[in-house]
Amino acid sequence: MIATKEPAPKPEEPRDLIDTSKMSSGQRAALELTEAARETSREGTFASKIFMGDYDLRSIRPYPLQSTEDRDQGDAFLAQLEKLLREKVDPDEIDRTGEIPQPVIDALAKLGAFGIKISPEYGGLGLSQTNYCRAAALLGSFCGNLTALISAHQSIGVPQPLILFGTEEQKRKYLPRVAKGEISAFALTETGVGSDPATVQTHAEPTEDGSAFILNGDKLWCTNGTKAGVLVVMAKTPPKVVRGKSKDQITAFIVETDWPGVEVTHRCRFMGLKALYNAVVKFTNVRVPRENILLAEGKGLRVALSTLNTGRLTLPAACLGLSKRCLEISRKWAASRVQWGAPIGKHAAIADKLARMAANTFAIESMTWLAASRVDRDKHADVRLEAAMCKMWGSEQAWEIANEAVQIRGGRGYETAASLKARGEEPVPVERFLRDCRINTIFEGSSEIMRLFIAREALDPHLKVSGAVLNSKFPMGERLKAAVKAAAFYATWYPKQWLPLELFKVRPARNTILTAHLRYASRMSRKLGRSLFHAMVRNGPKLERQQLLLARFVEIGTEIFAITASCLRAERLLEADSQQNGDVLATIDYFCRSSRLRIEEKFRALRRNNDKAGYKLAQKVLGFDASKH
Ligand SMILES: Cc1cc2nc3c(=O)[nH]c(=O)nc-3n(C[C@H](O)[C@H](O)[C@H](O)COP(=O)(O)OP(=O)(O)OC[C@H]3O[C@@H](n4cnc5c(N)ncnc54)[C@H](O)[C@@H]3O)c2cc1C
Repeated sequence: MIATKEPAPKPEEPRDLIDTSKMSSGQRAALELTEAARETSREGTFASKIFMGDYDLRSIRPYPLQSTEDRDQGDAFLAQLEKLLREKVDPDEIDRTGEIPQPVIDALAKLGAFGIKISPEYGGLGLSQTNYCRAAALLGSFCGNLTALISAHQSIGVPQPLILFGTEEQKRKYLPRVAKGEISAFALTETGVGSDPATVQTHAEPTEDGSAFILNGDKLWCTNGTKAGVLVVMAKTPPKVVRGKSKDQITAFIVETDWPGVEVTHRCRFMGLKALYNAVVKFTNVRVPRENILLAEGKGLRVALSTLNTGRLTLPAACLGLSKRCLEISRKWAASRVQWGAPIGKHAAIADKLARMAANTFAIESMTWLAASRVDRDKHADVRLEAAMCKMWGSEQAWEIANEAVQIRGGRGYETAASLKARGEEPVPVERFLRDCRINTIFEGSSEIMRLFIAREALDPHLKVSGAVLNSKFPMGERLKAAVKAAAFYATWYPKQWLPLELFKVRPARNTILTAHLRYASRMSRKLGRSLFHAMVRNGPKLERQQLLLARFVEIGTEIFAITASCLRAERLLEADSQQNGDVLATIDYFCRSSRLRIEEKFRALRRNNDKAGYKLAQKVLGFDASKH
């Protein structure tokens, strides 16, 4: 084969703005594939602007409360769901047996719980994203196994990608089935394919007449896989030649599990979520009609990433339900359990835990409803960053909250609900909650990957302005032209990051405490913008690989988002009911003060940290050459 010289890319193509010239071929392939599939933002969102020092509250203030009509619709469904859970479901028995009784699944299906967001036109309930998240919160407070069943089906299984990308014919064929309770699942992961989907081995070759594809491969950890009637499967399809180079293609297929060649070879079992119907699924020469491609050939990763962008919101909602339940359990126990002559909640060490649990639960709730409401206002709203922040922060905090609940309950926290019951005590299941929620920081984008994802979006405006300048792949002429443009941009942008614009931009809230915290958030957003810029200047293209540094920027941005969402929600709650004044203000003030301490600590660590020494030590531990990063 004659080697063709790759023509120089044009700087305006965002995927080319990252200098990949010093990466290994594997790293480059992974990055190019995900960059190509990445949604490009139409305009900055509140969360993305935080990283540019542009604290723009216009799109989120007043905090969007649910409309009465939407709330009533949700209430009617939630009342039925709650009744079903209370009367027909024993979550501890499900945990013990590792099975969800079929009558429970049937009752959920009858209620419409498998088609909450699917439009009534296709047989679903047609409820809003907010109401769907409320259902996830209710389930999350009760039973992790049911949450996973319903959420894997609806948030990542067939309904969500079909709603987003399905043709009318596909929708008519599959949505009524899945809305009625035919369970669906999402199959991307393989033994060698975890966080990095570029190396998918499952492959589909077109038939000679092009009317179908022949699918072969094995998928790992497919939640709902043992029960599913229909799957979304990500597979490699024949490569396409782009700029003279062969590029891998990943395509999303709708696959029915009763087609010849589809086989569940193993049911996986885990530390928690004991009744997860999670499978290894094998495909042997499965004939998939071309009309079952979602979106288009080669657009599978786009389908997966876009599905997750909104689908990811279910998880923080479930974490919210779990956190509220743990808080309630801890509140009751800390008030009634007397040791050393006082209720344990009177001892400062336990009081501190309770305060943090209450404050962080309020913040998870404020962030999640804010992001969900944006989807309700516009189905195609760009909530990538908000959803990722909610998922990352919410799942990490929920784990902390469940862990603290175990600690507050002491030995009883570690004891199973069945054992507590057997010896006559209330069967409080915090041990189960802790096991069940551990997975939340791993699946649907692990915490580490969420930080990289958010960092990529945070850097995007800078990359668009100056990526071409730093990219050694571009010809010098292009780089110089880009440098002139970048200089013009930064000449006006940078000085603005030093001006206390919040005095004009952030109008006072009803309460001075809220105003002070919102203005602080605005100040920190400017500082974040400046610091990110300084880091770019100091590190150049290497910044892309400074994971710990980037993680701190991401964490600061997420704290700013959390402060803002919480203050704005508090503002609305206080307007609606001034009786709540004391409780809400105490919660929000404590949350923001704690968040400030975390932000300040992270800013300090941008300059003073042990990152390099830690990295070197880890490479020594691994027996790797530390000079090759
Ligand atoms: C209970 C359960 C249910 C699941 N359900 C589904 C499902 O329904 N469908 C499906 O397709 N998959 C599913 N998965 C797979 C899940 O999404 C993956 O486990 C997840 O994507 C992480 O992949 P991995 O486990 O292979 O970890 P790896 O990708 O091997 O990562 C291992 C560790 O390294 C970190 N890491 C990886 N890459 C980087 C990097 N570049 N920088 C820094 N850190 C990095 C990760 O964050 C993680 O901590 C499920 C998994 C489990 C356990």
